[in-house]
Amino acid sequence: MDNRHGLSRNIPADVKRTVRQRDGFGCVVCGKAIYDYEHFDPEFADATQHDPAGIVLLCISCHGKKTRGFLSKQTIAAARQSPNRTELKDIWRRLLANAFDPVRSKWIRASFIEIAKKLDPLDALVLEKLQDGADGQLKPSSRDYVSTALGVPSVEVMLSFENLKALGLIWHQPHEVHHPMLTDKGRVFLAAAQA
Ligand SMILES: [Zn+2]
Repeated sequence: MDNRHGLSRNIPADVKRTVRQRDGFGCVVCGKAIYDYEHFDPEFADATQHDPAGIVLLCISCHGKKTRGFLSKQTIAAARQSPNRTELKDIWRRLLANAFDPVRSKWIRASFIEIAKKLDPLDALVLEKLQDGADGQLKPSSRDYVSTALGVPSVEVMLSFENLKALGLIWHQPHEVHHPMLTDKGRVFLAAAQA
């Protein structure tokens, strides 16, 4: 299906390679390693050529945001320049490498990749920082330690805690939401994503 300028949907392999390498093998907005090639400047409907400069890697959920008008081309262009998604991409890269390691269990293949899909870059950073408390104790609290270590407002750290808890990667004592610790699942996940 060609657009009104007669441009085919099929992006040539060499253009895809250029985009893939430039965008670091992951969605430019959130870092997920399952992505597609998207014309964004101009949109495919208006494009006359497959120019790498106007094409980015986007995952399904970020592409959906773009379609619904929540991601402008300015935001996408800025995200493409931003290095702060490296951490999640690293986790993805290691998880995927481990998923093809025949020595590892099927559980890592399926369930860990499902977990990684639901993390955003800050969640990944927060989870890795929680490892600093080898005995489960971060001072003065997990929230304050992570907030200072990452230079991120504590409200954002708390949002990450909520997501990580929903995924079963951390837990906390009743009334100690600001002071979670890694669960066994969280430790195994990190080990799988780091080996
Ligand atoms: Zn994305």
